[in-house]
Amino acid sequence: MDIPFIPAHSSNYARGRTAPILWIVVHYTANDGDTDTNNAHYFQGAGRGASAHYFVDEDSITQTVRDSDTAWHCGAERGGSYFNGARNANSIGIEMCSDVVGGRYTITEQTAARTAGLVRSLMDKYNIPLSRVCRHYDVTHKACPEPWVRNPQLWEDFKRRLVEEEDGMIEKKNVLLNGTAYPCECIEKDGYNFVKMRSLTQAGYDVVFDAARQMPAITAPQCRPFVPEGDEAVQDAVDALQEVCGLEEQTIAYLLRYEYGDELVRKLAAGLR
Ligand SMILES: [Zn+2]
Repeated sequence: MDIPFIPAHSSNYARGRTAPILWIVVHYTANDGDTDTNNAHYFQGAGRGASAHYFVDEDSITQTVRDSDTAWHCGAERGGSYFNGARNANSIGIEMCSDVVGGRYTITEQTAARTAGLVRSLMDKYNIPLSRVCRHYDVTHKACPEPWVRNPQLWEDFKRRLVEEEDGMIEKKNVLLNGTAYPCECIEKDGYNFVKMRSLTQAGYDVVFDAARQMPAITAPQCRPFVPEGDEAVQDAVDALQEVCGLEEQTIAYLLRYEYGDELVRKLAAGLR
């Protein structure tokens, strides 16, 4: 990752650190369409009273304070409280550039993805666990980054992306198996979706370990992937079966899911007649 360094004015941060780097704190700039470079130039000015180590926008990142120096990004206001262990002295501050869409602050997908990449590399570099990656909100309850405070799910999504792309996190996802949704254990990694084989059993797949051949075996049920409407002859046969035999809708649906279901239903109806 090529990150240019545009130093903030020395009056905007403190030289050195009084504590090791333990935390990463994520912020937003509360601007509309700003860039990392804009922000870097702004903080070249003296007496801003604040600073961050990095600014991220959709297509680039700029560093303005060295990791080894203390940026002023998450200090509590006078009389304010702290809600976790992050302080300016022990954290790296990252500002995400923002946009206003429909009257609300937004962090674009590209900016979030770029920020995730930066956070991951800093987690690796300083051996910081996910539990010590937080929002400014988590430090002082300031509404920052506002879109991820207003909608905490976006923050959860961001955190998931930090581990997912690392080692692939198991997630329960609904997957359509033979047209019915089943919760399956899935892992998304490198653009591929992996489904736990055992999750297939609930949909009628036979998943076993074949001891003779020493490999896992999956046997599909006698199903077809979807049940088409069926032609008129099939529909007539279905009506006859329901009328005469009193078959439930779900029984019919089951018969029609069988890969030779149309033929079966037609033959059964013909037998009745
Ligand atoms: Zn903030």
